[in-house]
Amino acid sequence: MAETRTLKIGIHGRNDYNYPESDYQMVKRARIEAIKGMSYTGPQVYQRLQRDNQNLEVIIRLDWAERVNERGHPSPEEFRDRFVPVMNNLRSVTTKFEVLNEPNHSTRIGGWGPTRADAENFNAWFLRVYELLKAACPWALIGYPGLAIPHGDFPDGDLGWVEVTRSAVNRADWLCVHCYWQTPPGQPENAQNHLSDAWGLRFKAYHQKFPDKIIDITEFGNSNGQSGYTLADGDMARQYIEYYQELFKYPYLNSASAFIASSPDPTWNSQGFSWVRPDGSFRKVVEAVGDMPRPPLVPAAVEEEAFVDPETGRRIVGLFLRFYQKYGLDICGRPITDRFMENGMPSQYFQRIALEEYESGKARLKLVGSEALASRDTIKALREQIGQLSQGMGIIGPPPIQDITDSLPHHPTKQYGTRALDQITLISINHTATGPTITPQRIAEVQVNQQGRPGISYHYFIAADGTIYQTNALTTVSEHTGQFSPESVGIGFAGNFTTDIPTDAQLGSGGRLCAYLLQTLHLNLEAIKGASELIQTQSPGLQWLQGRRWKDTLLEQTRAALAAGGPAVDLESLRRRIAELEGEVAQQKAEIARLEAQIAVTPPPVVARPAIEDVTDKLPRHETLQYQSRSVDSIQILVMHHSAVPASVGVERIASYYVQNLQWPGIGFHYFITAEGRILQTNALTTVSYHAKDADPVSVGICLAGNFTDVMPPAQQLDAAAQLCTWLLQELKLPIEAIKGHKDYVVTQCPGNQWDGGSNWRQALLDKVKAIQASLAAVPVSPAAKPLEHYVLFWQYPDSWAQKDWEGAENYIGRFRPTCGFSLDDALRARYVTIIGGPLGVSTEVEQLLRQSGCIVERIAGADEAKTKKILDDLAKKGQRFLTIVPA
Ligand SMILES: [Zn+2]
Repeated sequence: MAETRTLKIGIHGRNDYNYPESDYQMVKRARIEAIKGMSYTGPQVYQRLQRDNQNLEVIIRLDWAERVNERGHPSPEEFRDRFVPVMNNLRSVTTKFEVLNEPNHSTRIGGWGPTRADAENFNAWFLRVYELLKAACPWALIGYPGLAIPHGDFPDGDLGWVEVTRSAVNRADWLCVHCYWQTPPGQPENAQNHLSDAWGLRFKAYHQKFPDKIIDITEFGNSNGQSGYTLADGDMARQYIEYYQELFKYPYLNSASAFIASSPDPTWNSQGFSWVRPDGSFRKVVEAVGDMPRPPLVPAAVEEEAFVDPETGRRIVGLFLRFYQKYGLDICGRPITDRFMENGMPSQYFQRIALEEYESGKARLKLVGSEALASRDTIKALREQIGQLSQGMGIIGPPPIQDITDSLPHHPTKQYGTRALDQITLISINHTATGPTITPQRIAEVQVNQQGRPGISYHYFIAADGTIYQTNALTTVSEHTGQFSPESVGIGFAGNFTTDIPTDAQLGSGGRLCAYLLQTLHLNLEAIKGASELIQTQSPGLQWLQGRRWKDTLLEQTRAALAAGGPAVDLESLRRRIAELEGEVAQQKAEIARLEAQIAVTPPPVVARPAIEDVTDKLPRHETLQYQSRSVDSIQILVMHHSAVPASVGVERIASYYVQNLQWPGIGFHYFITAEGRILQTNALTTVSYHAKDADPVSVGICLAGNFTDVMPPAQQLDAAAQLCTWLLQELKLPIEAIKGHKDYVVTQCPGNQWDGGSNWRQALLDKVKAIQASLAAVPVSPAAKPLEHYVLFWQYPDSWAQKDWEGAENYIGRFRPTCGFSLDDALRARYVTIIGGPLGVSTEVEQLLRQSGCIVERIAGADEAKTKKILDDLAKKGQRFLTIVPA
């Protein structure tokens, strides 16, 4: 048995307003630790359960009782208006709320529907609902609902559906999963469906997709009864105990709730789900679960702080999030992947950079940019071609291809992922299932504008007249063959081949294209498949494998093209192309080195702590009442107030008003700023004082002395407020949007009409905070940290190098022993760089790059190699390392 566990033993509560007495007894007897309840159940039920059972966790499903479908889906605003009062009413028992239930079910039984379009619709709806609920109840944790399994139009059911809603799952605070299994009679003796990955342990597949999410299994059970099989009480008890014991092994599981305690609907009892029978007696499982061994409970790993990009829906966490917060959108661009494993390292791609965690807790930039990735792949392919050519092997040149990739419609925000060419193992043949005259332009329009795809699905499009169009780079992972898309090249043949087959011209071009791809990608004929051989689809038409069997024709044409070989390729032009591409890669590397150097030396800008006088212990406090306390991590908002009395009324008098007149534990605010700009601390940040109702637990109260109904705060007071706010934003790691007015949360005049109207001191405050932040960002960058002291850089080309200069530098090198070589990459890491020879060798661009990255650079170049040697020899003789530089 596991030594500790994170999993709480849960039960799905009765779907009713009230619970019968027997349900309360069952929860005690089974020693239930978590209950998943319905939003329409009365709060008194949960309050009693928590009184009776110490530490019982409550998770509430926000349930649209009359079913989502009957009047169409509720709008996000309707959903908010309905549930915010419910959530506030339940706040004393829980913070966790699951949004609806099994949305991938057909609309008939309360879902959104099983198709991709339904999933996309739900994704957008959930994101909006999340935003609205969080704005109204910042303390609440919003869960993505459990899906019906396996259910949906995708090859892998719920898992395909949830993938489409990835940004919703990422945004959610936690993830619900449903796990059901059946044990039909006549199954093999050893069938263990409750312990199989496809059924009882289906949550493992969700964890694979969303490894950072804490999972609550909000429904599980043996559903034999739904298919008319029986389940003996004893078997049920045994399976459920084995199941809970297995779940103890997964530290990302927080709870698992068996469906269902009891129900007013007798079906759930007759089908064998209910733990309590209608007569109040218990099934065997109750006693068995109550008596089973339980390792000590420890909390599930707290989910890491995360940022979800509003445009790409990708999620940034941990080390990469700290990097992103530090360097921002300008340097990184938006995240275009979630964190994933690449080359054995956690990695994440952004629009401008990519990061990898090469050691635990240490991140570095990796070489990227789609161009650089493509360049590396092309270099590899070209080198192989040169190798083959020099061995006298014939190679197949590409057939005429019109590259229209950039001119086709693309989605304004969505982007396909990318891949390396060696990930490709298949060529997937599709038909457009339209008339043969359809253009790639038209297909792309439909796929992007109507289906919301990032771009056209194919890599190549072959028109009826045999013209081949390239429509995506081979490194692009476009969606054309379901789960096989990442490893396949998609070729679309224009036409519908249900009864017809492609034209001779199309088949001829198709054969040449396939031959070229097979050779370039090192694949054999087996790699050519119809989409229908890989996934469930009609494409590329019934005539592919039956009737006129055009697969055979295409393979014949491919074989013929392979046998014919192709036009000879000019070796020299290949070499030139490689040199060009290597130049591009070198540029990228240099850019990375420059960014890394910048990162290594940029001191984190620090806002100085303003002068704060702590009067917390000197103010009047209530004799018996005390405020609750909190962790500073829970603070999300700074709430501004005015004292609403003349500024001459001091903090002492205000505090005693709260304590004596209002009977509060102490003054409501954390800080009080006098008209002269003195900042007083009046409560610890860890104190949950009263000043903004629902926002109290997550906010800091800052009060400016005075009444700002008709006038705005004086300059020195506003300056002090700006300094305090800027410092707090830094210390609490909050964005500037965290600065709010009291009236943003509660119906009140505070902090005065001039806050957001009239002289608008809200804007004045924000402008001052921004100005302080900007002045910090402008801190000058100190010289880059450079591991090498002095590098002497010589030029080289693929076919020649600075041999004479190298020989001429012999005395100089012998005298000063610098690091020498031809690598820009290495030179970038040196404090001083000596370039030998004129700009026809090492170019002025490279020189410029070195200077930009913080190197101190000197070029030594005579009129010819002999003159250069003379300069170097003179320096060596004089013992002077540099011509013009005076070393520090
Ligand atoms: Zn106020």
